[in-house]
Amino acid sequence: MERALPQLQVLGSRVHGVDMTQACARIEALVDEQRFAHVVTFGSEMAMLARRDGAYRDVINGADLVVPDSIGLVSAMRVLGRPECERVAGIDLVADLCAMCARRGFGIYLLGGAPSVAAAAADELLKRYPGLQVAGVRDGYFPSSDDADVADGVRRSGAQLLFVALGFPKQEFWIRGNAVRLGAMVCMGVGGSFDVIAGRLKRAPALARRLGLEWLYRLAREPRRWRRQLALPQFAALVAAQALRERRNHQRARDATRSIRR
Ligand code: UDP
Repeated sequence: MERALPQLQVLGSRVHGVDMTQACARIEALVDEQRFAHVVTFGSEMAMLARRDGAYRDVINGADLVVPDSIGLVSAMRVLGRPECERVAGIDLVADLCAMCARRGFGIYLLGGAPSVAAAAADELLKRYPGLQVAGVRDGYFPSSDDADVADGVRRSGAQLLFVALGFPKQEFWIRGNAVRLGAMVCMGVGGSFDVIAGRLKRAPALARRLGLEWLYRLAREPRRWRRQLALPQFAALVAAQALRERRNHQRARDATRSIRR
């Protein structure tokens, strides 16, 4: 039996306080269990959506592993009582998982992105991780009436790890909705990672990432994201309110215990 991972509720969504090494080890263990498993790389915008959309929240809370994939979410977890929390960036996790899969002989499947992007990302990963087995690739622009065929194709490929790049919330709903057809497989939503791996989209420079300014870089490159990013200050305010509420509740519980002891 695996040791339970530390976890925290952020605005109603359960997030695991794991670092990159722990996340990778848990995913390797999930592959070894040979069952369906869902891994979510979770960010602040996703947390805001989960807060107002119960169906999305259920998908997140039903996942096997939810890693904090944005500086906003990591800051939230620190404020909410896990100061040791670190960011587990989805794209870095994909890289470490590909290294693990090459070492263990697990097959991966890349699903999503514009036509030819998944194939280009697969070529790049094969170059970077010699011995990696790519069981299949497929672009992410198919009608929902093809969902069953696509999921059957993924299962037949024999892949043990499926990366789904359909953007949120589509990728999380797709994974959950096709769980039965996918069968024994670890599935993880990876947003725009294939675009970055394939060299179609540049990642923020290391300095911007270190300073926690990746969101600003993305906003500058993709101004259409401004509306989505309006959610971020609201996220910060709601997390501060949650932290205050929790502190008040702890204080009340402590006071009550003291008065019983007296
Ligand atoms: N995408 C897709 N099918 C769709 C919608 C989106 O394959 O129906 C892909 C899109 O080409 C891009 C990724 O999903 O590669 C979404 O990237 P984004 O950075 O917007 O991810 P998010 O931050 O929304 O999770």
